Amino acid sequence: MIQAAVQCAYLLATVLFIFALHWMNAPATSRRGVTAGAAGMTLAVAVTWLQPDIVHHGWIFLAILAGFAVGVPLSRVPLTAVPQRTALSHAFGGLAAGLVGTAKYYLWLGEGPENLTMFRMTAIGGEIILGYLTFTGSLMAAGKLQEVRWIPQRPVTYPLQNFVNFTLLAAAAVLGIALVLHPTAPWAPFLFPVVIALALLFGVLLIVPIGGADMPTVIAILNSYAGLSAVAMGFVLDNRLLITAGALDGSSGLILAIIMCKAMNRSFTNVLFGAFGQVRPSAAGPEARAYKSETIEGAAQVLEQASRVVIVPGYGMAVAQAQHKVRELYDLLKKRGIWVKFAIHPVAGRMPGHMNVLLAEADIPYTDLAEMDEINSDMPQCDVALVVGANDVVNPAARSDTHSPLYGMPIIDADRARTVFAIKRSRNPGFAGVDNELYFSDKTWMLFGDAKQVLGELVKQLAGGNGSS
Ligand code: NAP
Repeated sequence: MIQAAVQCAYLLATVLFIFALHWMNAPATSRRGVTAGAAGMTLAVAVTWLQPDIVHHGWIFLAILAGFAVGVPLSRVPLTAVPQRTALSHAFGGLAAGLVGTAKYYLWLGEGPENLTMFRMTAIGGEIILGYLTFTGSLMAAGKLQEVRWIPQRPVTYPLQNFVNFTLLAAAAVLGIALVLHPTAPWAPFLFPVVIALALLFGVLLIVPIGGADMPTVIAILNSYAGLSAVAMGFVLDNRLLITAGALDGSSGLILAIIMCKAMNRSFTNVLFGAFGQVRPSAAGPEARAYKSETIEGAAQVLEQASRVVIVPGYGMAVAQAQHKVRELYDLLKKRGIWVKFAIHPVAGRMPGHMNVLLAEADIPYTDLAEMDEINSDMPQCDVALVVGANDVVNPAARSDTHSPLYGMPIIDADRARTVFAIKRSRNPGFAGVDNELYFSDKTWMLFGDAKQVLGELVKQLAGGNGSS
């Protein structure tokens, strides 16, 4: 009876997870998606915990308290740090799977060799290799994104790097197979930690040659590894919910990584082994190129006279937390009867949907957010493209310069608007580390400064000097 109720609750939790993923597809339903996911997870944890053979283990309280101690501060990180926060969650997920696999192996070994069936050992092997490599790989990814001092941001490469990495993974797999075939051999309990060590080392070495710019994609890939290790853990513990939830996690991570690779026109192998983001000397020295700056008054005048304006937000808007100022500017332009749209590039910012989340926070109507393909056909008819802290996603070199690391990435065609205003703080390049031709174009005027401050001044100017900024 209890078991039937538990399985029904697990089924309900799985349904909630599926709906959560479905609802998170669209901004209008995404909040409902988050609620459904949290409800499913609460149900899953409560039902598992309340089972008679588990609930009497008082020490589980300690584990739950430890989870809260880590989870609550993680939930408070700013939006700009969400990619590294996500990486840390995967690290803990991978570690949990690895530890459960390790504990189960030694427990079953102690209880009698008949427990270590080939099926269970295969599941344990997959669980520990994927779990531990996800642990160190995700920690490295989080460290790179957080710009931890002793972890280099740029890709670190050395001769035969991919060969060394593959050999390491192959060695872990071969030793894992030996364990599956001879789990009770006298050497097996000593070989087990060696497989763990190889998986931990592989996780570190896998991330070392990958640059910070590719880290969000790598995090999505690590997400799918964490999901697969949860599937293996589900087989080890004979828990169907872990199997279905892990499969959903693994497949959604993979789909997300594919979407991101497509939006950057990159392949998986290029992301994992391409060492993208190495420092590249620019063709012309910075002194050879000149930017044109515009004053706030000048920019406000052009905006006032425009009839179609496209705002292109990027990572800088997130850094400056300028979304509310963007909203004020949008309101002022709309009040003047100007057609205003936001051009959303699929990889603007540092995570998919980054711009949508920020603009939704500022209550900008979803109907005025336009996807890249949709807005690009409108760009030649636009009077002004206002680029707010975006760089790589509006770099025309992606269309024409076959030597550019951005070549082939679809971009927002800001350069096709009649006039371009670009807000950024300095002459520094974007995340790919390359100059942006758009900023040297005849039609582009720079508004140098922090996005929130520049937009605040623009709003003030447009509001007649007594705006709300
Ligand atoms: P970006 O290329 O990183 O450029 C952001 C620009 O914002 C910088 O040039 C920076 O210039 C400016 N900026 C930073 N702080 C600012 C502030 N406070 N005020 C004003 N400007 C500021 O960003 P992007 O155009 O959004 O492109 C995203 C990049 O990330 C792409 O290369 C994409 O492939 C990569 N990526 C994204 C994802 C994703 O899921 N979104 C995943 C993987 C990779 P200054 O320093 O001069 O101010």
